[in-house]
Amino acid sequence: MSAKYEHLYVVIEHEDGKPVPVSLEMLGEARRLMNGFNKKYSANEKVVALVLGNNMRRLCEELIFYGADAVIYVDSPEFQYSRNLVDTKVISQVATNRELAKKFSDASNFIKPRYMFFAADNIGRQLSSTVLADLESGLASDINKLVIEDLEIKHEHKTKGQAVKYEKTLEMYRPDFSGFLWTTILCLDNRNPAIEREYHPQACSIIPGVFLPIERDTSRRGVITDYIPKFDERDLRVKVLDRKIVKSAVDFDSCKAIVSFGRGIKDSSEQNIKMVADLAQALEAEVGVSLPISKKPFAVSEGVSSTYMIPDRVIGTSGRKVAPLLYIAAGISGAMQHIAGMKESGFVVAINPDENSPIKDECDIFIKGRMEDVIPLLLEELRKQKPAIEVKK
Ligand SMILES: Cc1cc2nc3c(=O)[nH]c(=O)nc-3n(C[C@H](O)[C@H](O)[C@H](O)COP(=O)(O)OP(=O)(O)OC[C@H]3O[C@@H](n4cnc5c(N)ncnc54)[C@H](O)[C@@H]3O)c2cc1C
Repeated sequence: MSAKYEHLYVVIEHEDGKPVPVSLEMLGEARRLMNGFNKKYSANEKVVALVLGNNMRRLCEELIFYGADAVIYVDSPEFQYSRNLVDTKVISQVATNRELAKKFSDASNFIKPRYMFFAADNIGRQLSSTVLADLESGLASDINKLVIEDLEIKHEHKTKGQAVKYEKTLEMYRPDFSGFLWTTILCLDNRNPAIEREYHPQACSIIPGVFLPIERDTSRRGVITDYIPKFDERDLRVKVLDRKIVKSAVDFDSCKAIVSFGRGIKDSSEQNIKMVADLAQALEAEVGVSLPISKKPFAVSEGVSSTYMIPDRVIGTSGRKVAPLLYIAAGISGAMQHIAGMKESGFVVAINPDENSPIKDECDIFIKGRMEDVIPLLLEELRKQKPAIEVKK
């Protein structure tokens, strides 16, 4: 007999007909999890990719090569670009449609997906919250580790203090407190008879860059199912009249080195930023920052603030993904969200007085010390060696 809540639905994002990398990363993790799930529970639940787009059939085939068992495809010119209002309505329709689920499974009792994944990027963060509000379930945001487990839970309200077994629970881990602590988030039914209620899907948004896609395999087969959505003019009241991809003024793509700074500048903000800028200049590098810096947490002169403490320079899940040959992190603790943006760098140097900072595990060289003491020494050395270290463009 089929279950009420089945399958793992993955909401795919795309750009110019290609899946954005996190979409394939989510599919890869979904595939690994559901392979384990089906083996452990002798089940046959599917990884289902959900695509809203226009003329995207080729992309749907690709998603099967990257791990989907089934693709639900909503094709309309209205889905050329993502718009939260109409996307939310259609994704909620798809997620509660038993007839669609029957195209790739028995689904005779299907009510909603068991699990659901979204990207933790600008589109997915908003979409996941509006869809899950519609589906009346919970959401864990910015997740970087997932485990499916049977858990025994004893909770004052949820279980009325009794130990209750929750099967097939998705443990959703997220980095908190600057990446120093992992929080585990569970989306659990209320089993207390006084407030009984079921919460499905168990859903999360996933940090780009943390999971690996599976290898593309063109021998993989799956079902592509079309869905004709229901929406009206009111759902289309947000219109895309024009769309320009604004190129960032900060060129991280063609520079060979990046020197980034974080809240560790705090003791002498203005001077420390200028010192970082000097180091960047000596290395012909760009300057990057951690997210808190873009919120201008320290008082500095207008020129320094408007040049360096800006969102365009943020590296990480809320900013840019970079891959220079050399990455220097000065006064950055190494939170997961920052690491996701720089972990493709070739050689990483961290300058930090605290050797318990997570950045220590992410770098090739850890210089234990204050940037005020370390950077002048580096600058002095660079000046001595300048003729020998011409950076080739
Ligand atoms: C949804 C979400 C998205 C996020 N996205 C991003 C993102 O894209 N990018 C990002 O960076 N963060 C992001 N964050 C924030 C992230 O979790 C961290 O809070 C942030 O990266 C910490 O910034 P930091 O390293 O500058 O500051 P801190 O964590 O405060 O670290 C400062 C470091 O400086 C060191 N230090 C102190 N004094 C000195 C000194 N004199 N010299 C050298 N070092 C010194 C300290 O030992 C410490 O390790 C996000 C958070 C959330 C919740």
